[in-house]
Amino acid sequence: MAANPNHLIRLAPHGGSFECAPGQTVLDAAMAAGYWLPHSCRAGSCNSCELPVLEGRFHHLELPADGGAVAAGRCRSCRALADSDLLLEAPGVPREPGQRVVSCGARVSAVERPSADVAVLHLQLPEHSGFQFRAGQYADVLLKDGARRSYSMANAPDEANVIEWHVRRMEGGRFSTHAYDKLKVGAMLRIEGPFGTFTLQPGDAPVVLLASGTGYAPIAAMLKAHGAELARRRAVLYWGGRQRADLYAVAEVEQWQAEHPGIRLIPVLSEADPQWQGRRGLVHAAVLADLPDLSAYEVYACGNPLMIDAARSHFTASAGLPPERFFADAFVLRH
Ligand SMILES: Cc1cc2nc3c(=O)[nH]c(=O)nc-3n(C[C@H](O)[C@H](O)[C@H](O)COP(=O)(O)OP(=O)(O)OC[C@H]3O[C@@H](n4cnc5c(N)ncnc54)[C@H](O)[C@@H]3O)c2cc1C
Repeated sequence: MAANPNHLIRLAPHGGSFECAPGQTVLDAAMAAGYWLPHSCRAGSCNSCELPVLEGRFHHLELPADGGAVAAGRCRSCRALADSDLLLEAPGVPREPGQRVVSCGARVSAVERPSADVAVLHLQLPEHSGFQFRAGQYADVLLKDGARRSYSMANAPDEANVIEWHVRRMEGGRFSTHAYDKLKVGAMLRIEGPFGTFTLQPGDAPVVLLASGTGYAPIAAMLKAHGAELARRRAVLYWGGRQRADLYAVAEVEQWQAEHPGIRLIPVLSEADPQWQGRRGLVHAAVLADLPDLSAYEVYACGNPLMIDAARSHFTASAGLPPERFFADAFVLRH
C-alpha cells in the first residue's frame, strides 16, 4: 500500500488535527477540515494568519513584499507548506470543526449603482448550496482563469441563500470594472466562501467601527446582524471617503441609527467641497482626535490597507489600544 503523502497538523492547546496534502497551504487544509484559523487576505499580505510553530518543518511560498518578513518560529499559514507533521499554537480556535467553505454558482438578482464608482450586487445562491456566513466575512468570485477576487458580504446572514456585495470600480481593475460597467441581472458568477475571521467579538467593550469607502460593506452586515448589541456597546462608525458620494449608503446608516439609538455615524471626508459642514481629513485621525484614550475599546477596521496600517499603528502606539483588540480586513489586491 502506498504511504500517505499528507502531513498531520495538530493544534495546541486542544489537540484538534487535520491532514495537509502536498502543495496545499496549511490554512487551506485547516479550513477544508472546518478549523477556522485566524486569517484575512489569504494572499500573504496582512499577517493575520501568522501562528507560532511549536514542532515540525515548513516553508513559505513566495511572500509578497507588502507583508514584510515573518519572524523566526512563526508561519504565515496562508502561504505555508508543511515539510513534516506540524504542531501549531492556535489558542482561540475551537476544538470541534465548524463552518465549511462552499463553492457554488450565483445568479445576479439585482444590480444598483448608488454612486459613480460603487456597484451593489445581489447574488442568489442555489437553495441547497450550504453557504452560510457570519456578519463580517467575505467570499471570492472565481474568474475564468482561476484568479479570484474577494468581496465582503454586506447583508445580514439570516437572508436565505442571498448575498450582497459592494464593489468599488477600480480603473483598469479586472473584475470591478466588469461588475460596474457590464454586469446585468441574470448573469452567473462562480463564488467560494465564506472566508475571514473579521467578526464582532462577544463582550462589553465600547466599539469603534472604522471604514473607508466600500470597507463599509462588512460593517453594514454587522450593523444589520448585531444592531442591538452595537447600540448597547455605544458603537461609533467613522466612515471615510474623499467626497460625499463615496459614502454611498449614509441613508441606510441613518436608518440603523434611528432604529438603534446609541449607534453614531461620523462621516469624514478628505477632499470635501467647501459646502461640507462635517469632519474633514483622514478617517483614523478623526478617531484619534475624538478618542485619544482607546484603552477600553475594541476597533473593527475595514477597507484601504494604508488606512488600516495607519489606524493600527497610531491607535496602539499613541492611544493605548491593546493590539489584540484591533480587528481588521484590509482590501489588499491580488494579482
Ligand atoms: C478580504 C478582502 C475583502 C474585500 N472586500 C471588498 C469589498 O467588499 N468591496 C470592494 O470593493 N473590494 C473588496 N476587496 C478588494 C477586491 O477583492 C479587489 O481587489 C478589487 O475589487 C480590485 O479587483 P479588480 O479585479 O477590479 O482589480 P485588479 O485587476 O486586481 O486591479 C486592481 C488595480 O491594480 C491595477 N493593476 C492591475 N494589474 C496591474 C499590474 N500588473 N501592475 C500594476 N497595476 C495593476 C489596476 O489598474 C487596478 O487599478 C476585498 C479584498 C480583500 C482581500
